[in-house]
Amino acid sequence: MFDQKAYQKEYDKTHKEEKKEYRKTHKKEIISYQKKYHKAHKEKKKTYNKKDYKAHKEDRKAYSKEYLRTHKEERNRKKKKYYKTLNGQASLKLGRITRRKSLVLTPAFLRITSKDIRELLQKAVSCPHCKKVFSEFLFIKKSLDHIIPISRGGLDTKDNCQILCLTCNISKNNKLESDY
Ligand SMILES: [Zn+2]
Repeated sequence: MFDQKAYQKEYDKTHKEEKKEYRKTHKKEIISYQKKYHKAHKEKKKTYNKKDYKAHKEDRKAYSKEYLRTHKEERNRKKKKYYKTLNGQASLKLGRITRRKSLVLTPAFLRITSKDIRELLQKAVSCPHCKKVFSEFLFIKKSLDHIIPISRGGLDTKDNCQILCLTCNISKNNKLESDY
């Protein structure tokens, strides 16, 4: 029997570069095609998704549970790799912020985003306190600090965040800039 799937897989493997090149040179066409397709199938997709979602809820749950169980190591490896990238660092730091309870709730539109954190991390060259230049190699790590600490009513805004070296951040703890 002709194995369509295996054939497709093999084809994809051997024609990877060609396909990449095609996507590059035909970018506009592909996008406009996708847009057209999406528009034409919008309503159908909507109702299908809703019905499908309800009907397969339990299946999907079981499947993702099983997937998580069997791909644990792979996921951990991927996670580790991701958290070494700038995007990963930013989302990790944002997660730490949002898990912490603020005394004063920061309005959503003022709250720092992972994009803001990425920018801060990207711009930071040296620690504003000890003036040491950040270096993974020398273990002078970047860490996100609230200028007015959360425990003293500081907000989760970009203006209230700065990048300190880890050592300074730990010794600053919940002190204010002025008594640090
Ligand atoms: Zn420092």
